[in-house]
Amino acid sequence: MEQNPPSFPSPEELKTKITEFMKENFGDRVSVATFPAPEPAASAGEEEKPEKIDNQEFEFKFLPRDIKAHLDRFVIKQEEAKKVLAIAVCDHYNHAKYLRQLEKEDAKRAEQLEYTKQNVILVGPTGVGKTYLIKHIADLIKVPFVKADATKFSETGYVGGDVEDLVRELVHKADGDVNLAQFGIIYIDEIDKIAAAGNLIGRDVSGRGVQTTLLKLMEETEVPVRSMNDIQAQLQAAFEFQRKGKARRDTINTRHILFVVSGAFEKLKEQVARRVRQGQIGFSAEPIQVMDNELFQHVTTQDFVEYGFEPEFIGRLPVRVVCEELDAGDLFKIMKYSEGSLLRQYELAFRAYGIEISFEDEALRLLAESAAKEKTGARGLLTVFERLFRDYKYYLAGSGVSQLRVTIDLVREPQRVLERLMAEGHKEETKALEADARQFAESFRREHGIELIFEESAIQRLTERAQAERMTIAELCAHLFKDFQFGLGLIQKNTGRTKFVLDRAAVDAPDKFLSELVVQSYYPIASAASATRS
Ligand code: ADP
Repeated sequence: MEQNPPSFPSPEELKTKITEFMKENFGDRVSVATFPAPEPAASAGEEEKPEKIDNQEFEFKFLPRDIKAHLDRFVIKQEEAKKVLAIAVCDHYNHAKYLRQLEKEDAKRAEQLEYTKQNVILVGPTGVGKTYLIKHIADLIKVPFVKADATKFSETGYVGGDVEDLVRELVHKADGDVNLAQFGIIYIDEIDKIAAAGNLIGRDVSGRGVQTTLLKLMEETEVPVRSMNDIQAQLQAAFEFQRKGKARRDTINTRHILFVVSGAFEKLKEQVARRVRQGQIGFSAEPIQVMDNELFQHVTTQDFVEYGFEPEFIGRLPVRVVCEELDAGDLFKIMKYSEGSLLRQYELAFRAYGIEISFEDEALRLLAESAAKEKTGARGLLTVFERLFRDYKYYLAGSGVSQLRVTIDLVREPQRVLERLMAEGHKEETKALEADARQFAESFRREHGIELIFEESAIQRLTERAQAERMTIAELCAHLFKDFQFGLGLIQKNTGRTKFVLDRAAVDAPDKFLSELVVQSYYPIASAASATRS
């Protein structure tokens, strides 16, 4: 059912309605002013952030090559897309700046000025960096960025409402700064799914509906800051109005919002290849695998219309470029050279467990090859890494292993290499613990002048207990031998003995071990006799 909800009262109306309701139900006992409690007049220091003034200048001072250079740090390949986007973004924001200036100087001329906004269609399969490009552009030029899937819109009954939510989301992303939100970027993926023609039965109407609504946004429209469906936002506005006596700025103009839409446009390549093959030499008769920038040169507006888009809709998207598929070589470069490489994430994750992970190039090449088989672009890397390293994270964390070198062997036989590492890790850890035990004896000697000699069996028992009880050797010894300084000191006084050999039993029952020694030192003959008897 496509039906617009009843319009919500304005903040002023709402306040009057609430006041009436309160009076009717509670008479004069309760007044609206106490709900919510009125705040004292804003005093210095805790004043609310002033609302940004609408005509405040939007700063933009980039050249296309600055933007391309920034993208090169993160995005591998997609050279054409980087260039085209860099130009479109500069044109768009330079024009916005110019128009703002002109509005101040000559409002009439500004109104008459004709300009086609540089909205963009990005064609390309999943996971090749489309979103990544736009996100990094938005980061660089410091404008809010919102992404959504076009398929979401056609699934809801009420066309229009949620498309506008995208614009409101920009305000949210800009921390409530409506002015900045008006320069944001809206990115809509899977736009090919709302093409009306043929391919999606039953969705035709809403697909077309979504195109029309988007078209309105892409041209110029005012979107209410508060959704008519969002009762909480409406109430909040009413209270704010009551508190301050004025309503906040309540619409967002979409004139300077840059729209980028994208999709895989699977059928487009066949559509174009057919025509190109007929008319041109240089294209072989072999089936075309990928849409690259060369083939894309032959894509016309008419192709998009045949695909199922309204001519007006496509007409509002004059900048068109392809993001090409990524092969194993590209995926290798992404890991090796992109600043956003997944390797950094894995280094951090392992470092948190005290493990330094490092990667051999040849191993990375193997990983890139398996990732390319996933056919999900760079996302394949995530899948492959997650699968490979899941057990490594689980079993190596807390295992004593401190280095992890990712080799070809490891990629080919992860299970075997993991087992070997765990065994080595265990050995390493045991060795370290043994050294700690000797260290304890050494400091005991230095501090108290008494020599503790751990037998092999004692050291083994100490390391076993430290591992089982998850204690350091220092903690464990301090706990087990807490009375030894006093007890052995007594013995030393009685007998002059300064050397004591500790065996496995001494570690298992230190108090019993100590008391027997002490008793022996007082009654050497009696205890020797009792020892022979038993
Ligand atoms: P899509 O093309 O579907 O929008 P994304 O841009 O979301 O794909 O890519 C997913 C992730 O893969 C990105 O966050 C990024 O880490 C990585 N990635 C994709 N393409 C590239 C590329 N060309 N260069 C570097 N990283 C990339």
